[in-house]
Amino acid sequence: MLCPSCKTVLIVTDRIAMETMDDHISGTIPQVDNAYTCPNPDCQTKNFFWNRDGEYYTKSYTSNKDCFIDKNPCPFGTISRKLHKEFYSEGRTKTLLKIWKFRFEREYHYDCDYDGNILKKNPKINVWINTKRHNGECLYISGIRMLIFCMKQYHRSRKKNYVYENKLESYDKRWWKVATYYYIKTFEKIFGGIKNKSPLTA
Ligand SMILES: [Zn+2]
Repeated sequence: MLCPSCKTVLIVTDRIAMETMDDHISGTIPQVDNAYTCPNPDCQTKNFFWNRDGEYYTKSYTSNKDCFIDKNPCPFGTISRKLHKEFYSEGRTKTLLKIWKFRFEREYHYDCDYDGNILKKNPKINVWINTKRHNGECLYISGIRMLIFCMKQYHRSRKKNYVYENKLESYDKRWWKVATYYYIKTFEKIFGGIKNKSPLTA
C-alpha cells in the first residue's frame, strides 16, 4: 500500500493495538498488529499511521488532513481508500432546490477501485424535510414508497411462511399503515392466510 500523500510504499514501523472498524462494531478487544508509516522524510503525514486494511489513525486530533491526495487519508491499494471515497468524498451530494420545508438533493452512489478512482456513479434524488417534530432535517420517504415497501415485505414473508405483523394501532393513523392493513386483510380473505406458520417473523 502506498502513502496517500506522497505515494511512497508504507513500511511497518511499530506493533500497536489499534481498534479497527470491525472491533468497534462487534465490541471486540483490539489486537496488537502492524502499524504502517511513510518512510519519506519530507512527507507531511508524520502524525498519521495506518493498519493493514488502510484504516488511518492520528497521534493528534488537530492533525491537518489537507496533505492527502484527493483529501482521502487512506493508502492507495486498500479497501479503506475505496470505502472512504464511496462514502465520504466531497461533492457526492449537492442541494438542487429548496421549497418550503423540503430540500431536494442529488446524491451519487459511487463504485470505486482500491486506489479511490470512481468506476461507476449512479445519481439518486433525496428529499429532506425540515420538521419541528424532528427538530431538524430528516429524510423524507413518501407514503406511496412505504406502502409498496410494506406490501413487498408481506409477500416476502408469506413466501417463507413467516408471520407478518399486521396490526392497526390506535395511535398510528398514517394512511399507508391503514392501507397496508386493509390490503393484507383483503388479500388473505381471497387467497387465504399463511399455512404452517413459522414461529419466526420477517
Ligand atoms: Zn508519504
